[in-house]
Amino acid sequence: MRHKIYIVGIGPGTEEMMTAQAVQILEKSDVIIGYTVYIELLDKRFAGKELLTTPMRQEKERCRLCFEKAKEGKQVALICSGDAGIYGLASLMYEIGAEYPDCDLEVISGITAASSGAACLGAPINHDFCVISLSDALTPWEVIEKRLRSAAMGDFCIVLYNPASHKRPDYIKKACEILLETIESERACGYVENIGREGTKTTTCTLAELKEHQLNMFTTVFIGNKTSYIENGKLITGRGYHL
Ligand code: SAH
Repeated sequence: MRHKIYIVGIGPGTEEMMTAQAVQILEKSDVIIGYTVYIELLDKRFAGKELLTTPMRQEKERCRLCFEKAKEGKQVALICSGDAGIYGLASLMYEIGAEYPDCDLEVISGITAASSGAACLGAPINHDFCVISLSDALTPWEVIEKRLRSAAMGDFCIVLYNPASHKRPDYIKKACEILLETIESERACGYVENIGREGTKTTTCTLAELKEHQLNMFTTVFIGNKTSYIENGKLITGRGYHL
């Protein structure tokens, strides 16, 4: 007997920001598995389901739990915030899935923080952009530095995920210092906290100012390209239309 597991991106927070396809899949699932915080976001809406959580940093255990539950004959959905294929568990599920040849996987896309956060700020990534995570939990810091320098040299707009955590409160400052080797200090930037959740807050600033800001892990950061500008609290990157 073959089993099917859905890997579902639930968007940034509230149900309105989940795709109709994601809601449909969750509705037809017997078991919904995820990181504690995201399961808490869903527990009222999907109260009739078996909701299982594993803490942060237990990603491998969380994935294995999906395969074990599927083998019991249950319809399983693994949820990730935003999009499951962008700093989510989609790839780890395929990697571990090699050990479970009777399970098929399907990824259901969700709105990633780069997209939902950009909408809050106006139009900050409306041209070529790079997405870089500042988390060095799985990526050596030297690689992150190299990618920051390369993005700056290419004049990409840059979206930074995981800009800070309790263990690494100064990473955004370190990242800004690297970007300031190439980018002028007046470069238009912004960030959004708690996208699609209570307490959504947008801030615009220069790159030099960003270096001094204390950020938390529920924040996505946007660094404009050479043409980006701030107007009425919005961060805009043009596409080159002549008016
Ligand atoms: N799979 C997720 C990203 C997970 S990495 C996605 O596609 O959005 C976690 C990082 O994503 C956070 O540190 C933050 O930078 C960003 N992020 C995710 N959800 C967010 C939200 N609701 N508000 C602000 N930033 C968010």
